[in-house]
Amino acid sequence: MTFQELQLLPQLLRAVEDMGYEAPSPIQAAAIPPVRDGRDLIGCAQTGTGKTAAFAIPILQRLSGRVTKSHRPIRALVLTPTRELALQIKENFDLYGKYLSIRNTVIFGGVGQGPQVEALEKGVDVLVATPGRLNDLCNQGHIDLADIETFVLDEADRMLDMGFIHDVKKVIARLPKQRQTLLFSATMPHEIAELSKTILVDPVRVEVTPQSSTVEAIDQRLYKVDKANKKHLLQYILQDSTLDSVLVFTNTKHGADRVVKDLGRSGIAAMAIHGNKGQTARVKALESFKSGEIRVLVATDIAARGIDVNELGCVINYELPNVPETYVHRIGRTGRAGRSGIAISFCNFDELAYLKDIEKLIGKKVPVVEDHPWPMEIFEATPKTVRPPRPPRAERQKQAAGGTNVSDKPTKSTARTENAPAATAPAVKKAVPVPEQPLVSTRRPSGQREAPAAEAPFSSPEVAAPQPPKIRRLSSDPRPIGRLMASADGRRKRRNRNRQQPEK
Ligand code: AMP
Repeated sequence: MTFQELQLLPQLLRAVEDMGYEAPSPIQAAAIPPVRDGRDLIGCAQTGTGKTAAFAIPILQRLSGRVTKSHRPIRALVLTPTRELALQIKENFDLYGKYLSIRNTVIFGGVGQGPQVEALEKGVDVLVATPGRLNDLCNQGHIDLADIETFVLDEADRMLDMGFIHDVKKVIARLPKQRQTLLFSATMPHEIAELSKTILVDPVRVEVTPQSSTVEAIDQRLYKVDKANKKHLLQYILQDSTLDSVLVFTNTKHGADRVVKDLGRSGIAAMAIHGNKGQTARVKALESFKSGEIRVLVATDIAARGIDVNELGCVINYELPNVPETYVHRIGRTGRAGRSGIAISFCNFDELAYLKDIEKLIGKKVPVVEDHPWPMEIFEATPKTVRPPRPPRAERQKQAAGGTNVSDKPTKSTARTENAPAATAPAVKKAVPVPEQPLVSTRRPSGQREAPAAEAPFSSPEVAAPQPPKIRRLSSDPRPIGRLMASADGRRKRRNRNRQQPEK
């Protein structure tokens, strides 16, 4: 099938040509005709299948048929869970609609609303939004959804995962009953299936290749490596200059920052993108990565959702995810739209169980790279650190007000201990876990180590002889206690002798 066969406007065909697309992807071939004709649609497809164009192109075609000149109400609404996805969808509308006079804008939380409100006031045809900010601006009277003709609910399952489903339902309640609705979801959990029954009318169903088969196009490799040596292995792999655009996944925000820091120390420029980064920092990191200014972007799963980088050649799982579907989502960032891609995964002993689940999901073994400088040498589980339970918030605030240090962060000395194996790793290949040090520092001001009090009897070869109990002086008489006791004794004897004398 060709784009010409989809009966698209010449302006849209030209834009698609400019993008370098040769043929519609399966979801585009299946979804564009019914959406162009005004039908409701339910699309089971994940990011990377070309689903954005599958709804953006026919929406643009429908809207351009009736451009309202003076009054410009919002006529198409795309609701998507993350800021990154929202920005990319808007960018796609701009690109596909560049030869049409359709106005698009995007709104999302985490940034000031001023410029967004200004853009809305100029009048827009297509609004791409995240649910929280949309409800906010509706409540403030900046947005009216009464003229919506087409509503797209994108990544519905993610909305559910991220706890946005109530906000989504609030948005739906604001929409006119008479409208076209398109729902896209990679998976179809019960709640989404139920929601789809209430918002779609006689929908066309389109399902593209299930997740696991997308994986076929990707060259997957597994490196078994100890946790402390992952950073060295990463630097070793990045020496391959053919890997020009690499997305590294970590499971935590802290982990992402640490990887960036370690790479920086070895002279490799990288940036992190995660939930603790402000919107400006996230956009800057993404832009630097897309433009090739930096070669490595380190991301957590939520932040990476919807990262759309055409030439992404390689994905590295610095840590394996404990949910196997996440592995498929991650590696699906490379090898998009029929291009080949490389997915490299690091796996330490603790992660072998996750690997088993992943291989079960994708239905094959991930090929192991045996020959590398940092092979796994620790074949036992990392002992878990037991932290004391955190007191309730109110109590912590009370303690903090009283000046007590109640931080649950490790003390400086502990943090150094945790980093100890990594610090010595360049010279020593095998990392030996260092036993945890007590949280309370046992360092003397002079810098000498002092054994903790409870351990003193065991640390000294001589046990001190027990001391007699001390006698407290009650009398102010300066004579020695023995003399005092003797004189008291004499007084008692004299008293008794007098008592025994008969009365005269
Ligand atoms: P999406 O699933 O919409 O996030 O799209 C994934 C990637 O595929 C984006 O980088 C699109 O630019 C690209 N793409 C979409 N449709 C096509 C197509 N027909 N041919 C080639 N690439 C495409």
